[in-house]
Amino acid sequence: MMQDKHYLMIPGPTPVPPAVAAAMSRPMIGHRTDDFAAMHKRIVERLRVVFQTGNDIFILTNSGTGGMEAAVANTVSPGDRVLALVTGNFGERFARIAREYGAEVDEVHFGWGNCVDLKAVEEKLSSARYKVVLATQNETSTGVVNDIAGIGALVGKTSALLLVDGISGVGGIEIKMDEWNVDVLVTASQKALMLPPGLAMVAVSPKAWEVVAGNKSPRFYLSLPAAKKACEKWNTAYTPAVSLFAGLDAALEMMMAEGMDNVYARHMLMARATRAAVRALGLEQLAPEEAASPVVTAVKSPAGVDGDDIRKVLRKEYGVTFAGGQGILKGKIFRIAHMGFADKMDVIIAISALEMALARIGQPVDLGSGVRAAQKVFLGGNE
Ligand SMILES: *Cc1c(COP(=O)(O)O)cnc(C)c1O
Repeated sequence: MMQDKHYLMIPGPTPVPPAVAAAMSRPMIGHRTDDFAAMHKRIVERLRVVFQTGNDIFILTNSGTGGMEAAVANTVSPGDRVLALVTGNFGERFARIAREYGAEVDEVHFGWGNCVDLKAVEEKLSSARYKVVLATQNETSTGVVNDIAGIGALVGKTSALLLVDGISGVGGIEIKMDEWNVDVLVTASQKALMLPPGLAMVAVSPKAWEVVAGNKSPRFYLSLPAAKKACEKWNTAYTPAVSLFAGLDAALEMMMAEGMDNVYARHMLMARATRAAVRALGLEQLAPEEAASPVVTAVKSPAGVDGDDIRKVLRKEYGVTFAGGQGILKGKIFRIAHMGFADKMDVIIAISALEMALARIGQPVDLGSGVRAAQKVFLGGNE
């Protein structure tokens, strides 16, 4: 296989567009300068378009989990009751962070591969008074997207705050922070936002600020009041990853030029083509169709086959990287990301490589049938 010819199709980090890489390699600038302030302001204004919010948005230099921890550290105090809506690995992580901060966490598991059932949420909310509800927009580990609008409509009727992990969804799947009553929305740079890892974005509603101001958990680097104070001058509390800010500026420029509706439609189209191809190959997707993610498709490994063996062939022979299963799904699924800097031909490459990998490990496969199904979706035909 040719050196350096790789196809990165995992749900983060995702491929970086040339314009973003170029922006990140510009000469360094100081972060306490007018140039940085102007860029910071432009970034936040554009992120508000993506988040569909008028709220404060803070860009923190840490991975997505740091953003999740900032959300918890600033809203959860020891002894608080927290409702965690868990649909997989990342929902479990959110619950664990809250427990680390001393919360009494009521964890509702919907099962890996299922989405949040709104009936269960309604019952829970009427049975107890929660300070905070934790939800995942796009459960990356299972390729399931949750109904944040529906959850927000229920939580919004209570005094609880809704904290949403939108790390792999925001920028690829529409979210309406204000209209859907999301109080803290977290995302990160290395998924649908087309950047390398290293930035987390945290948006905070007025309802959340009332809690954040007097919250009792320890916080220093992750203090949102400190971030807010610095942001009044379009500054950051501590030295930010300046290069990643420049990259984010360029990535948002690309997204604004494409138009967010088109960005979401592109992801939906890639997801539909991927699912049609998977079906045509006689494989099964993990998520139910109505909750299947627009940005990542989780596919069940064929009976008797370890999904990681398919991935090894894909990597070694074709330079294609899919993600494996996490936790209890290890070996049982593989995940194809179509997230961020990805378009139709990436899906075609992914599916044709998958067909060859299946053939190489001795699975029966009708070569070209998956590719044909994807092509038909792209041509606008029937699936
Ligand atoms: C990737 C991801 C995370 C973790 O982000 P890190 O940047 O690895 O800390 C959390 N939640 C979801 C839904 C993710 O996809």
